[in-house]
Amino acid sequence: MSSVPHAKPNMSHHLELPPAAAKKRIFWPYLLVIGGFHLLLPLAFLPGLFNPWYILLLIPGNYIFGSLGINLAYHRILTHRSLETPRWLERLLTILGVCSLQGSPLRWVTTHRIHHQYSDEQEDPHSPFVTFLWGHMNWLFIINDQMERLSTYERYAPDLLEDPFQRWLHRRYNWLWVYIVHAVLLAGLAYLVGYFVADSLWDAYLIGTGLFLWGVLVRTIYVWHITWFVNSASHYFGYRNYNTQDHSTNCWWVALLTNGEGWHNNHHAAPRAAAHGHRWWEIDLTYTTIVVMTWLGLAWKVVPIKVPKSFLPNAAPEELAEEPHEQPATS
Ligand SMILES: [Zn+2]
Ligand SMILES: [Zn+2]
Repeated sequence: MSSVPHAKPNMSHHLELPPAAAKKRIFWPYLLVIGGFHLLLPLAFLPGLFNPWYILLLIPGNYIFGSLGINLAYHRILTHRSLETPRWLERLLTILGVCSLQGSPLRWVTTHRIHHQYSDEQEDPHSPFVTFLWGHMNWLFIINDQMERLSTYERYAPDLLEDPFQRWLHRRYNWLWVYIVHAVLLAGLAYLVGYFVADSLWDAYLIGTGLFLWGVLVRTIYVWHITWFVNSASHYFGYRNYNTQDHSTNCWWVALLTNGEGWHNNHHAAPRAAAHGHRWWEIDLTYTTIVVMTWLGLAWKVVPIKVPKSFLPNAAPEELAEEPHEQPATS
């Protein structure tokens, strides 16, 4: 792969809302939780609670809950089956993803498989070609009737429905309870650290609260937005290695922030591949983690990069025309 193709997405492309979201009914649980977290955000910057060093907590916080939980577990293991791991490890990584408060894995995986099938078409749950903000986050606040039907999950995620652990997480908002328990445990840890490093109980309270706000609240919001940028910016800004039929792009700053997920045009060209960086400089720390896991005997059946010929930049036009619709990710 030596040449840099210039297949630019057509930015004037405009989509209507997905038919299943056309009624524009508000999905209150997501609006209240996501809106509420954002309203609390200024607390993290209050004098006494804010310390510039706390910003650094976002680095391990994003790696543990965002990269291991969302990228590795939700996306590469559960959605695309890009690798296999021991069952206990798959569940542990899944719990880390649940602690990013992005809904149950069953719902996330189903939504994402629909996204791959209909990328940047009207049925895409979150194309930024409705509006950029729709693709980024507004799609979460509108009821998508398709996601309210059991048949959707049976069609797109039968493998997860078969797993009692996944069914348990999805049932009765158990995923939300897992998030709450993790937040309480981290609050305990934060106040314990405060207690040991502060000179007074008041200082211990301030340090504990600051650590909690940055380690849980700010980190959750941060991981939300960088994950959402994969859906918005990485279908909008950047370059394309492959002529996929969607508008996916490789967006370097999204890749940097998300530890690899921003190489999204590569990913749409080879959805099952464990590696999302296809060129040597397309750094993908999530994939590096997978490589280390294979060394430790904790990952196997790692799916290699295989791009359909028709997506290659020098493909003949007739090959492009014959490309079948991309199927759900497990296929
Ligand atoms: Zn995409
Ligand atoms: Zn994907």
